[in-house]
Amino acid sequence: MKLHRLLFPAAATVGAGVAVSYAVRLHACKVPAMDIAACVLALFATVTAAVHHLFEAATATTHRCRVDGCDFRVRIRTSDPGESRRWQEAAASHPAHTLTPRP
Ligand SMILES: [Zn+2]
Repeated sequence: MKLHRLLFPAAATVGAGVAVSYAVRLHACKVPAMDIAACVLALFATVTAAVHHLFEAATATTHRCRVDGCDFRVRIRTSDPGESRRWQEAAASHPAHTLTPRP
C-alpha cells in the first residue's frame, strides 16, 4: 500500500529528470526559452503519465469477459481476494457484451 502512495512522486521525479535533461540539451543548442518551456512541460507530463500507467498496468489484476469476441475488462488494484473474486464475477456477467468483429 505504501508503494502506491509513492507512485506519483516517483513518476513525477522520473518525468522531471527527463524534462531537465532535454532542457539542458535544448539550451545548449540556443533554442528560445519559451520553446524550451513548452517542450519541458510536454515531456514532463508525458513521461510522468507513461511511468504511472506502466506501473499500474504491471501491478493491477485484469479480469476479462470470457465471451468470445467481447473486449470488456475490469482492472483493479487490490490484495483482497474477496473483492477480486467479486470483480471477476462482475466481468463475467456484465449485461452488454461489446462484440468486435475479428478478421
Ligand atoms: Zn462480455
